[in-house]
Amino acid sequence: MPDVAAELRDDVLERFLRYVRIDTTSDQDSETYPSTAKQRDLGEVLERELRELGLDDVELTEHGYVFATLPGSAGPTVGLIAHMDTSQDESGTNVQPQVVRNYDGKDIVLPGDPQKILRIDENPILAARAGHDIVTTDGTTLLGADDKAGVAEIMGAVAYLAAHPEIEHAPIRVGFTVDEEVGRGVDHFDIEAFGADFAYTLDGAEVGRIDDETFSASEVRIRIEGLSVHPGTSKDKMVNAIKLGARLLERLPKDRSPETTEEREGFVHPTRFTGTTAEAELRFIARDFDAEKLAQHEQLLRDLADAVGKEEPRARVSVTVEESYRNMKEFLDTDPTVTKAADEAARRCGIEPWREPIRGGTDGAMLSARGLLTPNMYTGGQQFHSVLEWASVQDMATSAATIVELAKLWAEPEWASRSSSGTGVRTPASRG
Ligand SMILES: [Zn+2]
Repeated sequence: MPDVAAELRDDVLERFLRYVRIDTTSDQDSETYPSTAKQRDLGEVLERELRELGLDDVELTEHGYVFATLPGSAGPTVGLIAHMDTSQDESGTNVQPQVVRNYDGKDIVLPGDPQKILRIDENPILAARAGHDIVTTDGTTLLGADDKAGVAEIMGAVAYLAAHPEIEHAPIRVGFTVDEEVGRGVDHFDIEAFGADFAYTLDGAEVGRIDDETFSASEVRIRIEGLSVHPGTSKDKMVNAIKLGARLLERLPKDRSPETTEEREGFVHPTRFTGTTAEAELRFIARDFDAEKLAQHEQLLRDLADAVGKEEPRARVSVTVEESYRNMKEFLDTDPTVTKAADEAARRCGIEPWREPIRGGTDGAMLSARGLLTPNMYTGGQQFHSVLEWASVQDMATSAATIVELAKLWAEPEWASRSSSGTGVRTPASRG
């Protein structure tokens, strides 16, 4: 492990264990922003800690975001972003992290539920971490490494840079977001006010993996209005919206679903079916790396809705399509230096970077589309959204060290001048 990572390790672990104990589950069905008030509990802790570190412009906003500035000596302003909320797929209440020191490379039985076992035959990445310190849950909750590993690494990196004023680095803007897991992470994110020239989300997994490509995504809703009549006297009158919805679902092609696709294949996926005899609503997500294919998935749903509507003209069937996010690669390709700098920072930490398209989205996908180029970087967390979630302490330290290297690299004139984002080399900012 490189020296910087070794130096960061204890601090990043301590922060991580502190943050994961704070319940920040977001809520898909909430109408408020942030979706759950408890996300602010972590926001308040981070706000206080950033002030204690001596960062400037520390702010917990009305929407629950945490922002701060670490002035630098030269170069563009680099944004570092992670999300504070955790997925509602598993409980995030009363998280009890366990640290398995100097891991022996065998199966790990989680202490709160002996049925929950991290098995090395299902987990080659874990098997390769013998000798590391591994953080797991007790088996009854998720861990929340997604994305508190990213939060702890950014905090560890800026704490390190703040404590080492002799290290030349670019100005940094820290941004901790809410509600990423419910797809609303950057709804109120003010890019102008954030003021970074480009940014990185720390929200990936395996060390070395740097993401510049996400799905393009849309949400499709199909509304079916039937006709409700008392079932005792409904012969030749009733039009049951539930049955029409079921008919439509039954016709979905089997080879275009999440259960049957991988790698670069897209899919359509029903996520919710609600209704009564009188009216029903089907919600779908459509995903593809290719914009044209995504449009075909949307058209498929329109066609299925049309067919059901034609078969039962007494029903009214309507379709709405809403874009969720777009593959960020088309935006990131306008300034490849931003992603290449992340590659170079990884190499300076002894890691050979690699790519794999994300079968999902990131806050960075939405920010990139809105003009703030934001590739995604590894955090060392694994098996997100699960009670089997885990993270290697050494990997988290390597991720934090990568951030330090990235901040240093962007202060070097040869890097700053290669980027077309922002203004390149700037007048040196004051060192607060
Ligand atoms: Zn995440």
